Amino acid sequence: MTDKANPEGQPGITRAALFALCPRCGAKGLFTRLASFAPRCTACGLDYTRFNVGDGPAAFLTTIVGTIILLLALWLHFALAAPMWLIALLLVPLTGALVIWGLRLAKAALLAAEYQRRAGEFRSEGDREP
Ligand SMILES: [Zn+2]
Repeated sequence: MTDKANPEGQPGITRAALFALCPRCGAKGLFTRLASFAPRCTACGLDYTRFNVGDGPAAFLTTIVGTIILLLALWLHFALAAPMWLIALLLVPLTGALVIWGLRLAKAALLAAEYQRRAGEFRSEGDREP
């Protein structure tokens, strides 16, 4: 991920992804629920439904989160001799949190990247968007 300085004051991909910002105006509120996009930006009206982020990040994310959780479980078991119930108590919520956080980050980054790539296209369509 690269964070390009944008002359129009739009957030870069990294900033938009980290803080769930609208890629056009930088307003907060990209998500309505845990990892679902809002239908449109409440500040500038950018239609988020026009972006097709897809499920691409999910498989990649599963691998990363799975690796982190497995290594943590092995470390807790072998280095600290933690009981199985404690390992489950710690890692089950952590897995959920990492998946939700990772999905939000990946989806926001992909939407921002797609917006930046198609920014010219959006502008040439005129000001149909409110
Ligand atoms: Zn906006």
